[in-house]
Amino acid sequence: MNYRELPPTAGLPPSWRDLLPGPATLAQALGDWLHLPEPLLTCSGTAALVIALDALKSQSPRRVVILPAYTCPLVLLAVAHCQLEARLCDLAPDHFDLDPAHLARLIDDDVLAVIPTHLGGRVADVAGITALAHALGVFVIEDAAQALGAESEGTSVGLAGDIGFFSLAAGKGLSIFEGGLLFSRDAGLRAALRQSHDRLIQRDWQWSGLRLLQMLGYTALYNPRGLYPAYGQPLRQSLEQGDKVAAVGDDFDRDIPLHTVSRWRQVMGRHALARLPAFIAQTRAQAERRLAQLDTLGGLHVMRDANGNTGTWPFFMVLMKTEAERDAVLNPLWTRGLGVSRLFIHTLPDYDYLTDCLPPTASSQDTPHARDFAARMFTITNSPWLSDDDFGEILAVIRKVQAGS
Ligand SMILES: *Cc1c(COP(=O)(O)O)cnc(C)c1O
Repeated sequence: MNYRELPPTAGLPPSWRDLLPGPATLAQALGDWLHLPEPLLTCSGTAALVIALDALKSQSPRRVVILPAYTCPLVLLAVAHCQLEARLCDLAPDHFDLDPAHLARLIDDDVLAVIPTHLGGRVADVAGITALAHALGVFVIEDAAQALGAESEGTSVGLAGDIGFFSLAAGKGLSIFEGGLLFSRDAGLRAALRQSHDRLIQRDWQWSGLRLLQMLGYTALYNPRGLYPAYGQPLRQSLEQGDKVAAVGDDFDRDIPLHTVSRWRQVMGRHALARLPAFIAQTRAQAERRLAQLDTLGGLHVMRDANGNTGTWPFFMVLMKTEAERDAVLNPLWTRGLGVSRLFIHTLPDYDYLTDCLPPTASSQDTPHARDFAARMFTITNSPWLSDDDFGEILAVIRKVQAGS
């Protein structure tokens, strides 16, 4: 038996030295690194989105938000929390970009904002979406939760739309267990964000204490040995029970905690940030080598960046030809401890627990490309702990499936 479990995404490994004293200036340091004007540190990416939506509500009477049909369920929960109406946009074929033609049909005078989303470190088309949205008086919120450190034309993602945010949650690049960064290039919107922040966010000692304990647990367990009990065992248990939504952690709590981030975790994040650029470079170099290996397989499609964009590489998003082929690859690998998994299991209408957050007519049949993307995609971690031998084992399973089909 092999008591080793690799994480499904290459998060920056925390270190006990991050507990040493230091400046509690995480937001400023991230802002300096990425040239973001006056970013706000939040207690999660979801909290950042809640603040962003609240700020936009103060700018316009419109009350509909367009989001990708395939995205993190927390995005929909944030829209519902703000008492806004969600409208789902299909994806472009074989991609996570919003389908511009569908988007154009969805926009009317009720639409407040649209949320293009950078998935898995890959850079989404925001410029095209923003041109379309701005022409019709719609704000653009860039969901860069999974793309801290990604760039488009030499500029950090998140700055091409009106408002952007990153997530600092466990497993997402730089982590303080739960956290987020919220920013805008527009001074007027920054003032609105600051106002919403100050109105919605309070100190909460209970949440601060819990998150500090969780951060210490994360520091102790985010390694191949610790992840076996902390991530691998619950994963296996959920899969045995046939609960894929729980297996990937898509079963989110409805309550969205809104509180400040304690100095302790800011100091820890500030220390870890010093290691992040080198980690991004290391994982990018590993990704380039492994992309070349994946290319030799044929019969599959690995998501990459368009020219001019330089994303980060937490994992590979691999599209197989059919759902059956995807499952044939995934089933033997999901519980092998090699960081092979899935991103979000469903399009949003297919999560039973989210139906009351959507209009009653919402159906995954209305967003066929998104449904297809969910059905044919799986992920391979780009953690440095995945050795060349481990990666070879994954390639062998894919080859075998392709030989048999
Ligand atoms: C994780 C995630 C969020 C929410 O971020 P949290 O920090 O977990 O609250 C939003 N959007 C996407 C695409 C995500 O992956």
